[in-house]
Amino acid sequence: MSHRSINPTKRLVVWLLAVFVLVGCSDSAKEQLVGFDGSTMGTSYSLRWVAKNDRQVAEIQQAVEERLALINQQMSTYIPESEISRFNALRSGEMPVSAELANLIQRSQSLSQQTGGAFDITVGPLVNLWGFGPEGRIVSAPSSERIESLGTRVGYQKLGVSQNPPLLTKATNLQVDLSAIAKGYAVDQLASLLVGKGINNYLVEIGGELKLSGNKPNGESWKIAIEAPLTTERVVQHVLPITNIAMATSGDYRNYFEENGVRYSHTIEPLTGAPIKHALVSVTVLHISCADADALATALMVMGDKKGVEFAKRHDLAAYFLIKAQEGAEFESVATANFDALLKK
Ligand code: ADP
Ligand code: MG
Repeated sequence: MSHRSINPTKRLVVWLLAVFVLVGCSDSAKEQLVGFDGSTMGTSYSLRWVAKNDRQVAEIQQAVEERLALINQQMSTYIPESEISRFNALRSGEMPVSAELANLIQRSQSLSQQTGGAFDITVGPLVNLWGFGPEGRIVSAPSSERIESLGTRVGYQKLGVSQNPPLLTKATNLQVDLSAIAKGYAVDQLASLLVGKGINNYLVEIGGELKLSGNKPNGESWKIAIEAPLTTERVVQHVLPITNIAMATSGDYRNYFEENGVRYSHTIEPLTGAPIKHALVSVTVLHISCADADALATALMVMGDKKGVEFAKRHDLAAYFLIKAQEGAEFESVATANFDALLKK
């Protein structure tokens, strides 16, 4: 464990050092960084990889766009006719789905078990009630009666999934929200797509969730930074010398609304049905799988600064927490031993 004190931040973003510059090379046989950017899942994405030339870029871009369209058609609650939206519209019963969707839901369900229900994809009705879902924003907090009335429709144990054949079932009018794992899942999918094209030195990023492998051209390391931007200047909080790993961050600073000075975050505590309330500002998780990193970052965010740090240590997770300090406007950072160990490699 390490403790560090840092400056106050309004917003903490993960940014990619030096990957925004496509390096041009005069010698065409030399390795260069190629790639492209786009938007998906309400955010931006970028791919970079090492190649001798940019001949493969257009073909890969098309394959990536097709893969993202497929994932959204399976998993997006923002597309009314997607598989998940059609399942959500059912009052009860079962529905055959794609193997990919059944797989990701199975994985989500075991992550719910592992995290004692902190991660729970059946929070859909609550996410909508609090104005963070496809039904749009709200300006004031809902009543406790309305929150309680949704209780019977939330709880991962009420959602059934089987693989052969791929099928989802629900005993009650529940709604699934994959927002806390879908970006990570898509990063894993795009990384596999690159590997399938023989590419082993890459960086794939969707909305701050990312996976990297190998090195930049000429054996230089990828440099991933956790940034602490002040209002007046941009400050790199932490440059992470990592590779062959995925990383995901959850925070209460990007997506929230404020009423009477109270901040309501988009991360919902499934047991209370309300946005989390604690001193944790953000959690970054390193993991082999970006889907797992994504879900675990959300789960640790729900658990909060005390339980989350304890859980991460007990389960040997590689996690980095930014916590509001008691006095003043200072923040404290806590990294687990496994997080620090991955940095040294
Ligand atoms: P981000 O989208 O900023 O990367 P997360 O990965 O933490 O953040 O996902 C947050 C989203 O996940 C919320 O907007 C909501 O749709 C959904 N969500 C909120 N609380 C939970 C929870 N306890 N378990 C699973 N999903 C959640
Ligand atoms: Mg997440």
